[in-house]
Amino acid sequence: MATTPIAQIIDGRTLAGQVRGDLEREVADLRDAGFAVRLDAVIVGDNQAGRVYAGNQAAMCAAIGIDYHLHELPGESSEADITGLLDDLNADEAVTAIMLHLPLPEGMDTARIQARIDAGKDIEGVNPANIGGVIYGRRTLVPCTALAVMRLIESTGIKLAGAEVVCVGASTIVGRPVAVLLMEAEATVMSTNIHTADLAAHTKRADVVIAAAGVPGLVTGDMVKPGAVVIDVGINRIADEQTGQSKTVGDVDFDSVSTVAAHLSPVPGGVGPMTVAMLLRNTVAAADGR
Ligand code: NAD
Repeated sequence: MATTPIAQIIDGRTLAGQVRGDLEREVADLRDAGFAVRLDAVIVGDNQAGRVYAGNQAAMCAAIGIDYHLHELPGESSEADITGLLDDLNADEAVTAIMLHLPLPEGMDTARIQARIDAGKDIEGVNPANIGGVIYGRRTLVPCTALAVMRLIESTGIKLAGAEVVCVGASTIVGRPVAVLLMEAEATVMSTNIHTADLAAHTKRADVVIAAAGVPGLVTGDMVKPGAVVIDVGINRIADEQTGQSKTVGDVDFDSVSTVAAHLSPVPGGVGPMTVAMLLRNTVAAADGR
């Protein structure tokens, strides 16, 4: 096995920047045609991480001309308070996109509340109608991370029809929608999960491996076929062995996999920035579709 890095690093930041450039032009065209693109986000209670994310979102939206409104509800809000606000936003014609920051306060039925978001404004693709659209091949509002994974794979130029693909992890928000999008692209898809007996036996055969399990360093170089495309979705905080400081790593052991794979997406700087770009893409698509 080679010991020097040979993989081309998939630069998610640069690719995401190109997407944002295209979107900025689309937003301007929509504005010229009399349609303002507007995203309304809802945050409930003391969600510090959500507030940081919302601040970044506001800046990203401003940069490409999307109006951004953040609605803050107190932690004591009831489910009816939240769904009432969502109903108002659904009914407001000026609002073209809606998202709900998670987590919601403990004890709330997140899926039931998300399902209240109008399917045409649901830019995270969490309404069952949009999830059904993924199954039926209607690519309207698809979960952003799944879209981001597809964009990064497409950037490598690999032909998916006939390729063997292994999805490591089968969550409703990442692993499952990715697997369905890959089926639509006519790849041969294997979905694995925590009960999969011999993960390496599957990944070693794969032309594309998508790691979305939330387990740091799960996919190592000896589990990857030479020349494969490896997409790392994981975002895990661990302590750096040398400095003791906390750092972000993916589900892929970057050093060993980069000596075997032909293309590898890094963490940070891979799927993460493209996911944000895909949220903006869905925001523009929701406004365009009305
Ligand atoms: P999840 O916990 O909902 O699901 C994890 C899935 O991985 C499950 O299907 C589980 O069975 C499977 N799994 C766990 N251990 C496994 C193992 N050893 N072998 C095979 N499968 C295994 O997780 P999620 O919400 O899909 O997130 C997965 C990772 O992706 C996390 O690190 C998360 O932070 C990250 N994530 C990143 C983005 C992004 O934008 N980059 C978005 C969402 C999630």
